[in-house]
Amino acid sequence: MANGTEIDLEALERRYAQERDKRVRADGMAQYEPLSARFAAMARDPHADPAFERPAVEAECEVLIIGGGFAGLLAAARLREQGIDDIRLIEKGADFGGTWYWNRYPGAACDVESTIYLPMLEELGHVPSERYPRASEIQAYCRKLAERYGLYDIALLQTEARRLRWDEARARWLVLTSREDCLAARFVISCTGLLSNPKLPRIPGIESYAGHAFHTSRWDYAYTGGNEAGGLDGLADKRVGIIGTGSTGVQVIPHLAASAGHLHVFQRTPASVEVRNNGPLAPDALSGLKPGWQRERRDNFTTIVGGGYAPVDLVQDGWTDIIRNVAPRLEDGTPVADAEAIRRAEMRKAERVRERVDAVVKDKATAEALKPYYHYFCKRPCFHDEYLDSFNRRNVTLVDTDGRGVERITPAGVVAGGIEYPLDCLVFATGFDFLTDYCEEAGLEVIGADGRTLARHWADGRRTLHGMQTRGFPNFFMMAIAQAGAAVNYVHVADEQTLTIAHVIAQSRRKGAETIQPTQEAEDAWVEEIVAGSQARRAFLAACTPGYYSYEGQREAGTSLNDFYPAGPMPYIERLARWRADGLPGLDLAFPSPGAG
Ligand code: NDP
Repeated sequence: MANGTEIDLEALERRYAQERDKRVRADGMAQYEPLSARFAAMARDPHADPAFERPAVEAECEVLIIGGGFAGLLAAARLREQGIDDIRLIEKGADFGGTWYWNRYPGAACDVESTIYLPMLEELGHVPSERYPRASEIQAYCRKLAERYGLYDIALLQTEARRLRWDEARARWLVLTSREDCLAARFVISCTGLLSNPKLPRIPGIESYAGHAFHTSRWDYAYTGGNEAGGLDGLADKRVGIIGTGSTGVQVIPHLAASAGHLHVFQRTPASVEVRNNGPLAPDALSGLKPGWQRERRDNFTTIVGGGYAPVDLVQDGWTDIIRNVAPRLEDGTPVADAEAIRRAEMRKAERVRERVDAVVKDKATAEALKPYYHYFCKRPCFHDEYLDSFNRRNVTLVDTDGRGVERITPAGVVAGGIEYPLDCLVFATGFDFLTDYCEEAGLEVIGADGRTLARHWADGRRTLHGMQTRGFPNFFMMAIAQAGAAVNYVHVADEQTLTIAHVIAQSRRKGAETIQPTQEAEDAWVEEIVAGSQARRAFLAACTPGYYSYEGQREAGTSLNDFYPAGPMPYIERLARWRADGLPGLDLAFPSPGAG
């Protein structure tokens, strides 16, 4: 099948279906549990001072932001730009950065080009050092943003918001935290992240493991030695195991392979790993570009990768290459309408990924086991130039479980295929909750206007306007991708959402409103549009090999309500811009009664 024209599409489809069937499990989403419950000790922050203490704070503010990742940083920046300065920010970590604060595992880096991923590069006059930025550089950039917008002065770090209650009489949110702070805020913006709640598989015996274990988002450098760039000297004489070969596993494994005495990689489903081609950016790489270049470049990328048409491809990376190949267009930009031609193009692209495995991995059986057999976009594509080569090392063993996963964990190690692999250290690269229960993921209890909790309000699925506001919870905004635009470059969508939220808050204040929330009609219409548009995506996912995109192959009631804006991220961004320009139709403003103080 090496030559694209010889691909037997029907045989491949059958193989994809077989591989899928091996992996569909009755327990679906329930095969995982959040780290924060039974394994709370593993959720501990390895980067923070555990002895940190401060007196509880009692304060009022205009806007409270929960979360200091890119969404929270951008929300604060956009509010400041609107002249709203009475802000407070609560962040669980000991510093800003969100995902990039927690995920410091060796090799952690972003797969989206720095020129479009890092927001406000023009405003800050910043030039990233590499095309694909490392976690530490991204976190340093987050700190730079926080300093630029004076956010350290308003932040309560190492603090978790726990309970939010709308006080109707005062028209304020009363917010309680893990440090017994009590804050009263007119507006709350919840920026708690998308993939922020680490999870573990409920593998039988997992709690009995007696060796050293940790999740990639809580990397234990005290044990492994080294740093983000590798050099994990503490593992030199250790038998190390890793469970998980998704985007995180792919980045970590080359470093574990280079440092461990022996590395066992326990694989359930192979990742699709494309060429990365990282390289330095010259200090003058962005000079001379005309103002507005970042917006243009970001819009161009999100348009193309979101399935739209742009006459030029400004970024020209692995992502746009995938789209060029799997969604072919005629010369004038018209999408190829022939379903068979599209199917063939996608299969060819996947075949090239498998050919790359053969070209790099010397042992034939190992190479065969590393080949992904599922449709593009059933799982997130990965990009790495050293991952596959790691399996050529003598100290690395791929333990392929043929879709079944690890069987058991014992005090001594991991059992797969009936064989026990004794291990000194076990790394879980097993991912994060995604689009499960919003309040559970965010760790928030939110009690709205009529005393009803958000968890109960959304028991049958989310209901929002634009994914950001929900009726009954006035002056409350969420940064989310459910019922909103989902993009490869999440920060792009987050930036546009925060622009919109800051604009809504500024307008509400300008008009002297006390509360602002969606009208029932506007919310219902938005939900209807999301659900109606979700059918094609749901049908695609139903045929996919399981993963977090497809709720582990499990279609639950209400999941259509977690779906994305169907036309794609760029049309969503444009829709938000139109909504702002049109004067924010569909919002209900309530004004203080005359004489109220
Ligand atoms: P994922 O959910 O993508 O991967 C979890 C891995 O654990 C999968 O390989 C899964 O196998 C495996 N697994 C789970 N249970 C078992 C089991 N019982 N036995 C064996 N294997 C098991 O998590 P990641 O942390 O890798 O990535 C999450 C997301 O974070 C990414 O999709 C991406 O959006 C983001 N990310 C982005 C990065 C970037 O920009 N470079 C880097 C890292 C993460 P299976 O596939 O069979 O379910």
